[in-house]
Amino acid sequence: MQPVRAVVLGSRFGGMAVITWLRRLFSPNLLSITVIDQWQEMIFRPGLVHAMDQSPDRLVSSVTIALPAFWKKLRLDFIHDTIVSVDPNRRWVYTAAHDPVAYDVLFIATGSTPLWTAIAGLEFCHQGICEGYLANRTAWLNRTQPEGACVFAVGPIAGNPSWSPNIQVGCECPLLESALLWDQELRRRQLRDRVEITVISPAAQLAEDGGPVIRQRIEEMMAQRGITVVTGAQFVEVGDRHIQLQDRRIAYDRAVWIPPAGGSRWLRNSKLDDGYGWVPTDQFMQHPDWPEVYAVGDVVSHPWPKMGHSAMVQARVAVHHWAAGRQAKQRAVAPYHPNLVWALETGPGQAFFALSDVFYGGHRQIVYHGRSPFWAKQIFQRAYVARAGALPIMP
Ligand SMILES: Cc1cc2nc3c(=O)[nH]c(=O)nc-3n(C[C@H](O)[C@H](O)[C@H](O)COP(=O)(O)OP(=O)(O)OC[C@H]3O[C@@H](n4cnc5c(N)ncnc54)[C@H](O)[C@@H]3O)c2cc1C
Repeated sequence: MQPVRAVVLGSRFGGMAVITWLRRLFSPNLLSITVIDQWQEMIFRPGLVHAMDQSPDRLVSSVTIALPAFWKKLRLDFIHDTIVSVDPNRRWVYTAAHDPVAYDVLFIATGSTPLWTAIAGLEFCHQGICEGYLANRTAWLNRTQPEGACVFAVGPIAGNPSWSPNIQVGCECPLLESALLWDQELRRRQLRDRVEITVISPAAQLAEDGGPVIRQRIEEMMAQRGITVVTGAQFVEVGDRHIQLQDRRIAYDRAVWIPPAGGSRWLRNSKLDDGYGWVPTDQFMQHPDWPEVYAVGDVVSHPWPKMGHSAMVQARVAVHHWAAGRQAKQRAVAPYHPNLVWALETGPGQAFFALSDVFYGGHRQIVYHGRSPFWAKQIFQRAYVARAGALPIMP
């Protein structure tokens, strides 16, 4: 009997967790797995915030995972290519340079798209930490030109207007973490009094998808550190030394951007997206019109936290849901319930842990600031990078 064909699009947090769970549940003679990605290595992006307090020398290499050995271990095929479209009627994935790839089940984990050009004047050269080359340059500038006004800005998310509750930003946690780490690093170098730090966000409040307790604690932390916060920002234009908002102009010497985020252009060539480049799913991560299609992570058409943690939990739900339909012995899985989970490093040996589902209709709000979330994050990062494996997280 031919093995069932699973195709996984994207191999970072979401894709890696999908692959890991699929191989845990199905041996290669029952399930063939093909992964398609434009990159052969994964950068563990949470580690890039250390562009603010570490030397550029080993910053990126220490969080870069070469994936071929991992794929070989899990006995799957990798196609190094750009995904162009999917035809869900034929069950084919089209790539730029290979023949169409046929699937019986498809898992989409291609993330969101950085929209650097969505704000007039905004360019890669305005710096950031979202990819290795950007973080490397930021770390180098931090070493050589630490003084002057530094802004940490997050662009808006071009989501689906029907998302409820709606969100203004996709991923703000690393921005706040970077601002706090930069504050701490400047204090260590006795330069803090020569540097203004400003955080700019289009959201009405920082941690918009956290509960009121988390929002208040973040606000307090920023005030204690002397970090100016500008919320409700409507970006008009970005220049090399200023950011023009609708109601004010902010001058700066250095910037760190999390660029605006949007859906994927390639998904708009398929029949799978919501019209905005995001993939609709139910709470089992299954497509409403194509039951053999699942999506996990930042790409899903929901205002759920666009975080690696969410992608990994969703991957577990998606794979177990699909497996339950195929294996009688496989128990039904609980649906995904969104939770904001942050472990925000705040300085040497300290981190702020926040967990809340209040924004999504729940009642949980947990905050803790201290050493244990710092060590939990360190241990997770080291284990993830060393094992090149998406460690399963129970929802
Ligand atoms: C600096 C930084 C720090 C962060 N820190 C944290 C943290 O501490 N905790 C946390 O939970 N989250 C954190 N996040 C968020 C987290 O990184 C993302 O939410 C997570 O990476 C989303 O995973 P994903 O698999 O859905 O998508 P992505 O990570 O975006 O992966 C998508 C993959 O799909 C591939 N792909 C996309 N389109 C195509 C195409 N057309 N053809 C071929 N391949 C394609 C890409 O190459 C990529 O490998 C951080 C993000 C940043 C930028």
